[in-house]
Amino acid sequence: MAQFAVIGLGRFGVTVAETLTQKGAEVIAIDNDEKKVEEVRSFVTNPICLDSTDEQALKAANINNVDAVILAIGENKEVSILTAAILRKIGVGRIIAKVDSVLHARILKIMGVQKTIFPEQYVGREIANLLVSQHIFTYMEISKDHSLVEITVPTFFLGKSLKELEIRNIYNIGIIAIKSSKPTVDEDGNNIVKEETNVIPSADDVLNEGDKILVVGKKVDIDKLIKMSEKKIRKK
Ligand code: ATP
Repeated sequence: MAQFAVIGLGRFGVTVAETLTQKGAEVIAIDNDEKKVEEVRSFVTNPICLDSTDEQALKAANINNVDAVILAIGENKEVSILTAAILRKIGVGRIIAKVDSVLHARILKIMGVQKTIFPEQYVGREIANLLVSQHIFTYMEISKDHSLVEITVPTFFLGKSLKELEIRNIYNIGIIAIKSSKPTVDEDGNNIVKEETNVIPSADDVLNEGDKILVVGKKVDIDKLIKMSEKKIRKK
């Protein structure tokens, strides 16, 4: 079973701990404020109250073998940096840290922290990406350059199979699922719309009006496709 440690139980840390638990992972949750530790006691695997700048206390918490430590102390940079240094020293392999400035991120990166997250910037970017197009329904950043989006099928894709469209060759993207809504009648004779998801569609699957597609690829290529799609709609 995957095992993680979350240090710092503010809103960010608690959300991470909660989500990891819901996904079936074991979570060691740490804060130096007993009240914060109490708040997560009912759902995490191991709640511990300790000061993360205390090397002996962190060592005793047995967190050096977890899959990753999420360092969720952002505001107090000194504590964050000191804790990161101790985590590296006691042999924690993967550290993901919340930061609140570019400089903070840079220092942690130099110290060997693998990933830094600036929550406000991250959410801001995702929301902006969602807002720029009325055709994007869900958006997820996979890496700096890649994303996963759910969009309505561009009109010039309609009635064509994935093979005919040569999606990968021409558009340099992958379609990993097709979502369709089919009008049908339920057991009581009511007209309903049934949602179906075709995950990893075959080359012969055809895209129809009203379908949505889950697209993965480079952000530039996905943006290009969305722009082409919007231009055609405006011309109509
Ligand atoms: P958020 O924005 O996630 O709500 P926050 O505003 O509470 O966080 P942060 O400074 O990022 O502010 O603190 C996150 C948590 O880290 C707090 O619950 C705090 O008690 C805890 N914390 C601060 N210093 C230490 C420490 N030395 N050891 C352990 N936990 C600490």
